Amino acid sequence: MPLPSRLARFVDDVTALVDAGDDEMRVVAGCSEAMRRLVAVDDWLPEAMAKPHPKYYQQYLLHCDPRERFSVVSFVWGPGQKTPVHDHTVWGVIGMLRGGETCARFERKDGRIVSSGEAAFLKPGDIDVVSPAIGDIHRVANAHDDRVSISIHAYGADIGKVKRHVFDVESGAAKEFVSGYANA
Ligand code: FE
Repeated sequence: MPLPSRLARFVDDVTALVDAGDDEMRVVAGCSEAMRRLVAVDDWLPEAMAKPHPKYYQQYLLHCDPRERFSVVSFVWGPGQKTPVHDHTVWGVIGMLRGGETCARFERKDGRIVSSGEAAFLKPGDIDVVSPAIGDIHRVANAHDDRVSISIHAYGADIGKVKRHVFDVESGAAKEFVSGYANA
């Protein structure tokens, strides 16, 4: 199935950015601009990539760069669903498409994982960024208890295959995980 044209344009834009070199700050800045355009209009996400699950938030792979330099994923949050505290190990750009999301940031301190005191609320059209350089540990939740929210994420790898971590905030213990995709 061909990509919806807005998504195809986003993929072209990010491909051009990674073709031009791997300076992370430049790629993330360009990707954020492209993401802003992608989530400015909510009329393109295929129904199959917008389906919630009653128990688990869903991650649908929309596109993976053939050289795995980046991937694009739709995150579909059922009412009240949230992630554990987790890291990414690669850059990520998040664009809010539908509903709302809260994002609480954490950081490593003396071998523990502590709240950095920062939290963001994303409404449709808003952008957020994570990267190991600026901080890539957070917990994300649907801001709504009564409806589905959807955000579009781009990551600097085939994120479904990346070995990363979830954290127990009490003990600071890290557990390795690989997220995969709901549409694998
Ligand atoms: Fe995340």
